[in-house]
Amino acid sequence: MPYVDSLRCRECARAYPIEALHVCDFCFGPLEVAYDYEAIAAHMSRESIAAGPTTIWRYAELLPASAENPVNLGAGFTPLVRADRLAAELGLGELWIKNDTLNPTGSFKDRVVSVALTKARELGFKVAACASTGNLANSVAAHAARAGMESVVFIPHDLEQGKVITTAVYGGTLVAVEGSYDDVNRLCAELTSEQPSWAFVNVNVRTYYAEGSKTLAFEVAEQLGWRTPDHVVVPIASGSQLTKIHKGFAELHRVGLLDEEPHVRISGAQAQGCSPVATAFADGTDVIRPQRPSTIAKSLAIGNPADGFYALDIVRRSGGAVGSVDDAEIVEAIRLLARTEGIFAETAGGVTIATLSKLAAAGVVRPDERVVAYVTGHGLKTIEAVSPHVGPTVTIAPTLSAFNAALTFEE
Ligand SMILES: *Cc1c(COP(=O)(O)O)cnc(C)c1O
Ligand SMILES: [Zn+2]
Repeated sequence: MPYVDSLRCRECARAYPIEALHVCDFCFGPLEVAYDYEAIAAHMSRESIAAGPTTIWRYAELLPASAENPVNLGAGFTPLVRADRLAAELGLGELWIKNDTLNPTGSFKDRVVSVALTKARELGFKVAACASTGNLANSVAAHAARAGMESVVFIPHDLEQGKVITTAVYGGTLVAVEGSYDDVNRLCAELTSEQPSWAFVNVNVRTYYAEGSKTLAFEVAEQLGWRTPDHVVVPIASGSQLTKIHKGFAELHRVGLLDEEPHVRISGAQAQGCSPVATAFADGTDVIRPQRPSTIAKSLAIGNPADGFYALDIVRRSGGAVGSVDDAEIVEAIRLLARTEGIFAETAGGVTIATLSKLAAAGVVRPDERVVAYVTGHGLKTIEAVSPHVGPTVTIAPTLSAFNAALTFEE
């Protein structure tokens, strides 16, 4: 691990060894991975990155696990697509979609899990565990199978069938808990001390896991020709991803990969039925009040977000905003993205696009900005969200006359 210096408390900056630690013993602040940026700058170049694999591991120097033998299903290097038709609908100019629906298990979680399990294996763990709103469950089960590790995955009992099946198929242990995600997470925090030989990817190895999200910034900058966007829109569940996208852009500059210092406005997106960060933003406070979630955007349904405070701070300092949208707006935005750009997103993607649309209408996201919207999960996993609203245009008998009677097309 040549480039990781230590773990460091985000609050009091105390240093810790590179072990399965996630909170500071002194102030209970979260730990962050600290790197030797000088050494990285000397080794990493645009050319060395371009010669690397087309996965997150092309940025290995800025990840906290060894790329020699990663737990890898091919996460990352997903398309960044110019979305002119969507931009026209929203009254925007240069708009891009980071299409993270195309990861191995259909969500951005493959980035964080590939890093977490690679590190967990390095640290000697044989069992991968997690508390999940769905996509993490899929990804942990799949990557554990790939690594030959055991998996024990905990989910709320009322998840979408698509997420339950696509987790269970990998053959690990899947525990459905009668409670919300926040109940599941509390149970897992308790289990972490009971089962010290399990790597809970979002508890005791969370410090490493979270670093995987930086690749969402690295790839966007590389795909834009080593330029950064003016404004990004990011969905918020725990808030981790948003904070790491911010860290990712800053690191690229720190190691000399950008020509100019990045000034990226970062805006957050939540569902109204679970909007603790959006509510704090609107109220002008930095106290995040926990909520009991009720929304179709189950992958974002964290009522007490671990990194909410830090996400809010970054949004404010960058000049962004946090918006929220209701279930009907989420479904409408899923259909809008599908109809304009041919990308089918899950409900979290609907939250992002609907929030983008609102922020554009309010003039927060502007037509003169280069904008990137992060679409983080695939629509096939949340079919129930759209199935009441779409279906065949007509159903007809298998005859020409039936077709002609039902539909008219110009020649
Ligand atoms: C987990 C998840 C997020 C948000 O992740 P956080 O880092 O917890 O904020 C966004 N989109 C999808 C599809 C997710 O599964
Ligand atoms: Zn501390």
